[in-house]
Amino acid sequence: MASNHHEKINIETVSNNNSTISSNIEILACSSAAASSSSSSSRYENQKRRDWNTFGQYLKNHRPPLALSRCSGAHVLEFLRYLDQFGKTKVHTPMCPFYGHPNPPAPCPCPLKQAWGSLDALVGRLRAAFEENGGKPETNPFGARAVRLYLREVRDLQSKARGVSYEKKKKRKLPPPLPPPPQQLLSPPSGKSALQFGL
Ligand SMILES: [Zn+2]
Repeated sequence: MASNHHEKINIETVSNNNSTISSNIEILACSSAAASSSSSSSRYENQKRRDWNTFGQYLKNHRPPLALSRCSGAHVLEFLRYLDQFGKTKVHTPMCPFYGHPNPPAPCPCPLKQAWGSLDALVGRLRAAFEENGGKPETNPFGARAVRLYLREVRDLQSKARGVSYEKKKKRKLPPPLPPPPQQLLSPPSGKSALQFGL
């Protein structure tokens, strides 16, 4: 509870309007490892719908107003950078003594950001949603070269800095009540155990 407090305040000071967005983003982080089984594909569909709504909300709150049809790769980058304020992955700057340190012994003032994997999965879902909602593939801003380059840059930076989740570090004293990964949850009990009984 206490470890979430700091994060909560951060979100709330941004704007009350954004509370739906921030809660969507938290779910987003958990679902980046969408697998190929059928129930995780409906999970993927749900997440894609939520992401699309989040992006629509972002466009609606955008100043100056921004129509989807006028959205470019640059606007997508703006959106991805905006999401960083809800991020939970510590990314050390090259000046930080813990830069490249896989398990820093103390806190540092480096920023929390969205993990590359979350952003990459998000862009993939929004790219699909854009076309499912009538957008043309040729004008899909989520498929823009600038977005691809940005994601590659984020991946390289984060792998060098070895971004460590601040949440994980803080909860080290108590074993964190992590939800089981989706694959485990969804794997049918039929496979191996049926085989055992058969033998
Ligand atoms: Zn640092």
